[in-house]
Amino acid sequence: MIALPEMPPDFRLVRVEKDGCLFWGVLSGDSRHVYPLSGPGHGAHRVEDVRFHPPVTPGKIIAVGLNYRAHGKEMGKSLPEEPLLFMKAPSALLAPNGHIHLPRMSRRVDYEGEIAIVIGRRVSRISPEEVPLCLYGITCANDVTARDLQKKDVQYTRAKSFDTFCPLGPVILTGALPDDRKLVTEVNGVVRQDARASDMIFDPLTLVSFISQIMTLEPGDVILTGTPAGVGPLSPGDRVSVTLEGVGSLVNTVTADPDFSPDLPV
Ligand code: ZN
Repeated sequence: MIALPEMPPDFRLVRVEKDGCLFWGVLSGDSRHVYPLSGPGHGAHRVEDVRFHPPVTPGKIIAVGLNYRAHGKEMGKSLPEEPLLFMKAPSALLAPNGHIHLPRMSRRVDYEGEIAIVIGRRVSRISPEEVPLCLYGITCANDVTARDLQKKDVQYTRAKSFDTFCPLGPVILTGALPDDRKLVTEVNGVVRQDARASDMIFDPLTLVSFISQIMTLEPGDVILTGTPAGVGPLSPGDRVSVTLEGVGSLVNTVTADPDFSPDLPV
């Protein structure tokens, strides 16, 4: 369980690194400066002088499958009667601007732009009406998926949990709900997914309440709310961005699987 800073609503919280020091900050309205909440000095840092980390290190990442009608259709699957849940390994977390590595084990890796909900308080078995009290905020996520392995395996664990398969960030918009925000995924500048949060089959309040009937939710836990229609494959050299209206853009590049030691998120 992690400690998140107490924040008023509508701030864009970031976690950044400078000179080997990792700290929380608030991104300025024009996205050009980071004002540190802790850490070295008190002045603003220019965004080009800091390295962005995922804005939170979740204890668990819970994801929702088939939560948009058109996506269910494109996958040739019937829609679930209850939210369809799976988990992604927290070690799959990837920072904004980090490289998504295409694993040798898979022949087909897809992007899935999603809205992520960040939990702010420890809760269990809450009603949809109680959900706003435990929400910390929202951010952008890419639920990167080895599609061929997802089809092959009954469980989604392998297909969803390779290292670098969960880009998250760059900011948490505090105290916010997805509402009717626009969610757009682009690959190399071409729009591939374009939907609204209100297109979800199970809305965010219903989802969080449903999940809390099963497992206690802790501060920092992240819920990926499902991807809209338009998923597709990634190739080495691609630049993929997930943009959530009023929040920001999560940008990552794609590389073939090198013999690498991952840049571990801290
Ligand atoms: Zn997904």
